[in-house]
Amino acid sequence: MTPIATINPTDIRKGNGTMEHTPSSDPRQVKHIVTAHRQTEGGGFIVRRPIPSQDLELLDPFLLLDELGPVTYDPGKAIGAPDHPHRGFETVTYLLEGEVQHKDSAGHQGVLRPGDIQWMTAGSGVVHSEMPSPELLDKGGPMHGFQIWVNLPARLKMTNPRYQEITRDQIPTATASDGLAQVKVVAGKALGVEAIIDTHTPIVYHDWTIQPGGQVSTDISSDHNVGVYVFSGTLVIGTDGQEVENGQLAVLTEGSTIQFAVSPNESTVARFLVLGGIPHNEPVARYGPFVMNTKEELQQAFADYQGGRMGQIKV
Ligand code: FE
Repeated sequence: MTPIATINPTDIRKGNGTMEHTPSSDPRQVKHIVTAHRQTEGGGFIVRRPIPSQDLELLDPFLLLDELGPVTYDPGKAIGAPDHPHRGFETVTYLLEGEVQHKDSAGHQGVLRPGDIQWMTAGSGVVHSEMPSPELLDKGGPMHGFQIWVNLPARLKMTNPRYQEITRDQIPTATASDGLAQVKVVAGKALGVEAIIDTHTPIVYHDWTIQPGGQVSTDISSDHNVGVYVFSGTLVIGTDGQEVENGQLAVLTEGSTIQFAVSPNESTVARFLVLGGIPHNEPVARYGPFVMNTKEELQQAFADYQGGRMGQIKV
């Protein structure tokens, strides 16, 4: 979700796409903590954004993590992101509350509802819109969700666009043996349960809920970069006992397991996302809705969009 009005192709931010190497450790611990900042996006809605931020340009392969809301719109006031393009990566939208109507230049359209996931591979380019559903706009109501941007490696940046839409009841879930921790497995595996979504490169995307007093450990590939974003309550990660608060993203050290716990003294559940993926370790040239490897490819993306070669929304 990016406002195209502010695009300036000469202002290109580059990341080196690499994470510093840390010695292997098992289980993973918190390496550092990033506090999300608030930012206005799309047609004017507020997001909490830990990536990119001053402290974390990139958590390779994750380019962006936005928490949309939570917000309650009055009738007629809900806003979204009107027609805009993307190229070179994937946008993944996961709703907890509210309804988002999407349309795109490949002729897809639909409405995402609470618990649903849309995994869109922009690849060579799409133009799409992400707007509140007509019913939400008319009646008003709550909106809460997430959008992440997953980078594609150079060999896949110009792949054909692809959509995967997974409804709430199709997302596998697992419960820890103490019954106090639950996970929705959007991508990858958790507690032996495997997601149904197909990703171009190995990606982990979990939505966890842990009750006060709960504790759980789950396996995760040791070659993944891993970030944990807490959006409710206070979570303890690793055997060091590091606390991570609502609105903070913890970047983890290497290791093949992660231990999560919530103190029995807490009054609220902890809710958090786990994002993991194998780093591409490639140059990143990004601006606005395009993420490529070089400045020249970025300029080509702008030229292709302005020349109408990413299509337009006809539905
Ligand atoms: Fe978008």
